[in-house]
Amino acid sequence: MQNTLTNYSDFYRQSVEQPDAFWAEQAQLIDWHQPFSRVCNDDNPPFVRWFEGGKTNLCHNAVDRHLAARAEQAALICVSSETGQEKIYSFKALHQEVQRMAASLQALGVQQGDRVLIYMPMMAEAAFAMLACARLGAIHCVVFGGFASGSLASRIEDATPKVIVSADGGSRGGKALAYKPLLDEAIRLSSHKPQALLLADRGLAPMALVAGRDHLWSDLREQHLDAQVACAWLDAAAVSYTIYTSGTTGKPKGVQRDTGGYAVALAASLKHIFDGRAGETFFSTSDIGWVVGHSYIVYGPLIAGMSSIMYEGLPTQGMDGKPNGGIWWQLVEKYRVTVMFSAPTAVRVLKKQDPALLTKYDLSSLRALFLAGEPLDEPTARWISEGLKVPIIDNYWQTESGWPILTIANGVEKKPSKFGSPGVPMYGYKVKLMHETSGEELTQPGEKGVLVIESPTPPGFMQTVWQDDARFINTYWKSIAGKTVYNTFDWGIRDADGYYFILGRTDDVINVAGHRLGTREIEESISGHAQVAEVAVVGVADALKGQVAMAFVVLKDASLMADEAASLKLEGEIMKRVDGDLGALARPARVRFVSALPKTRSGKLLRRAIQAVCEDRDTGDLTSMEDPAVLQQIRERM
Ligand code: ATP
Ligand code: MG
Repeated sequence: MQNTLTNYSDFYRQSVEQPDAFWAEQAQLIDWHQPFSRVCNDDNPPFVRWFEGGKTNLCHNAVDRHLAARAEQAALICVSSETGQEKIYSFKALHQEVQRMAASLQALGVQQGDRVLIYMPMMAEAAFAMLACARLGAIHCVVFGGFASGSLASRIEDATPKVIVSADGGSRGGKALAYKPLLDEAIRLSSHKPQALLLADRGLAPMALVAGRDHLWSDLREQHLDAQVACAWLDAAAVSYTIYTSGTTGKPKGVQRDTGGYAVALAASLKHIFDGRAGETFFSTSDIGWVVGHSYIVYGPLIAGMSSIMYEGLPTQGMDGKPNGGIWWQLVEKYRVTVMFSAPTAVRVLKKQDPALLTKYDLSSLRALFLAGEPLDEPTARWISEGLKVPIIDNYWQTESGWPILTIANGVEKKPSKFGSPGVPMYGYKVKLMHETSGEELTQPGEKGVLVIESPTPPGFMQTVWQDDARFINTYWKSIAGKTVYNTFDWGIRDADGYYFILGRTDDVINVAGHRLGTREIEESISGHAQVAEVAVVGVADALKGQVAMAFVVLKDASLMADEAASLKLEGEIMKRVDGDLGALARPARVRFVSALPKTRSGKLLRRAIQAVCEDRDTGDLTSMEDPAVLQQIRERM
């Protein structure tokens, strides 16, 4: 019935007013081994069980069910500008590799419900391992490859894996990073010890094996070349995986996800949001260590019968290892990519490259570029939109949600995007804005509030915090007075057309002389200055005003940093801009020019760390940070 609707408002209304009918229809997008008897069980809110009584399997839906129609079609296209290798696995080949991996894991003792931790670079075996776990009903927990021993150890401790799948190492910008020593050290630090390690060796870094515990994938694969491992038919509510949030605001949370709801959510999002079609190619530039990698490198595109590009390497490096800012566009041309997914932070990197690279390749296959993970500032959006000449679709979501919360559902109705807005609530999400302390719902356009989601949360949404229901409830569902709503901890605003704008995280709001200002708004204003490449604004304690804003700016032309007169002039211009856009109250007390900003490994700005440095406090857990050296520069420039 929805398929006859061409109007997104009607589509959305049905999803929230008749959720059972709506989701029962979406559930037809996947294969069920046993049909479900109840669409949504939310008898015990905020816990929700979708598709109760149904049995299915993620791996079956991603791989096996495509064998009949598209066995020879590319499933995974693995491209590494780090090793110079490019390898394509058809659905048939993927089916075989996944069964070899599943049989190897079984040989190491893995059974349904066991945890398998995956600590790997962007190599095909990482996807084999995820799919093999799904096939067996084992719970995977992917940890971003290259995370330091300490953060890896805390995740091993939390997930208590029976087996860890890893590799000799990863590589970044041509520099190999040995994983095995990091992993061995993490296991030493953890009180939980895995029974076995399964290790892929690409000859990037030396690897010492522990006899009896460590096994080479090449050996086990050889022993299971003809393995046939059937998919375990799992309850829809069976846990498929756990994944940790990025840790931008503090200690990462172990997000737990189901099987049936997730499969349906992904299949529906590929159709209604990404508008990706079977037989086409999807290219997400993320990493399997993040939720985007789970949903839109591995499971989503494959469930939709699409080929998925798995790319290892920098966006600015060619297959020969030499600088090449056009590598991604080259891949779009070569594999006729129709849907691409990246992050604003990556686009900002590309913005520093020769603009001619955007016209050098035939990008005519591309229908849209989706960007998520961070606020998409208008200058970046305009630059890439003018360069690619396809819709740039901002989408707002979280590790917790598993798929977009706010965006444009292009597959339903091609509504226009608005610069600065990720769009409108996606079907199934009852998004509201609430007053942070009174819990009052804000219904007027232009009112600022905390973005919350009412129960029941849609399929694909986190089930709970792994092994910690209390943390799930207390962290997410009890933070708004008198209301049981899911708190996104993001600050937003809605305009008269129902489009939302994200103003930043709730802990990024600063209070200047009693006025609450979103740091994001100030950043948006500053990033409109022609010289500004990137900016971070934080609130710093001030005896007089409570807090003042401090701006740290990366300039497009780094040489200006050393020029005192030019810096002063720029600082004045930037302050004037903020005065004009937001008023003098929002004007940063200082504008400091730096060569880089501290970010998480997923490219998110770590305002919390900048703020701590500015206030001369302990910076706390920085394990998710890309390059701790950049904090030193900020300290020096305070
Ligand atoms: P932690 O929860 O551990 O602090 P994190 O919130 O950075 O880490 P993620 O789940 O990866 O971990 O990120 C989700 C957050 O990223 C959102 O809550 C929001 O703050 C931000 N975000 C994601 N997409 C967008 C977007 N399109 N526009 C603005 N902000 C976004
Ligand atoms: Mg978060």
